[in-house]
Amino acid sequence: MSSLTDTSVTQLPCPTLAQLEAEGAPEEKALFRQLDAVAETRDIHLPLLDELLHLPKGRVVQYLHAKARACTEKVYGDRIFLRALIEISSYCKNDCFYCGIRRSNTTLARYRMEEGTILDCCAEGYAHGMRTFVLQSGEDAWWTDERLCRIVDTLHRRHPDCAITLSLGERSRESYRRLFEAGASRYLLRHETADAAHYARLHPAEMSYEHRMQCLQDLKEIGYQVGCGFMVGSPGQSPQTLWQDLQFIRRFQPHMVGIGPFVATQQTPFAGEPNGSVEDCLRLLSLIRLLHPHVLLPATTALGTLHPFGRELGVLAGANVLMPNVSPVENREKYHIYDNKICLDDGVDHCIDCLERRLQSVGRRMVVDRGDFQV
Ligand code: SF4
Repeated sequence: MSSLTDTSVTQLPCPTLAQLEAEGAPEEKALFRQLDAVAETRDIHLPLLDELLHLPKGRVVQYLHAKARACTEKVYGDRIFLRALIEISSYCKNDCFYCGIRRSNTTLARYRMEEGTILDCCAEGYAHGMRTFVLQSGEDAWWTDERLCRIVDTLHRRHPDCAITLSLGERSRESYRRLFEAGASRYLLRHETADAAHYARLHPAEMSYEHRMQCLQDLKEIGYQVGCGFMVGSPGQSPQTLWQDLQFIRRFQPHMVGIGPFVATQQTPFAGEPNGSVEDCLRLLSLIRLLHPHVLLPATTALGTLHPFGRELGVLAGANVLMPNVSPVENREKYHIYDNKICLDDGVDHCIDCLERRLQSVGRRMVVDRGDFQV
């Protein structure tokens, strides 16, 4: 699919819809109208998605991003919401083919954070203006409901003005319910792909597409704000499977969607595969924004890993969330879900300064706010 070079990074000042309209050639304007229809109907057909993923950079792609930006601004203004990410355990019982902390990776030093350290990390995030804590982990049975509920309950009492998000993989409906009752209100569980055959290409046979989808359904029914998502450029992905992802998002109406480019990672079966395309990821971010205008959409660290201005470009494509890592620096290399992850050594002070500058460069500002889904 499409490619992006360093020289094309700084698109500022970004052309406005009116400028693009004035400059567009007739064949470009025909595609502008099709993108208007995507925004109006909140739907896209497969041939148009295919064409958009194969178009060279130019006015049509700029129009797509400008339209998505306008859509984000209409719902959320220039505000960017921060989520304090705490990677509480690098143990995982699963063996997903794309993931660096899969159980078969025996080269990795593993860790579990102490309860007190988790609470300290959240307090540091709070002191830096973050009002959402995301507790993330591999699927680690050591984290029983009792242990997790104790942490969630303590966090909830210490920081009643904050949202607690969990990203702990597949658990039972009863476990999700207990955690919700303890005070967690959001849950991130990437669906990875909405195509069962593609799911089987990315996961070992013991993992079930149907169960993943059931977990997402359970979470929604319990009352969580739910985030799904997928990698862009994963092995076996096609415009057809991506179209199924977009259709799933239309049907499921998640509160958040996390997408990032696939990053080939050592010690995984996909180590030799090509990385996903940043450019495709940006186009999909914009399309997701048009199909689901109120969704909370992170500019992911994986985007920043594959491109020095990946997160700024993500914001310019319609993203409105950033997830700074507030885990202890000594753990970060061990939470090695993919290679060459950025910001491994950055303290929270440095990270916030850096993100603030990056956001200013694209006309956005970070806010002290839970950043709930706006209906
Ligand atoms: S993607 Fe998640 S469930 Fe799969 S191996 Fe990695 S941490 Fe475990």
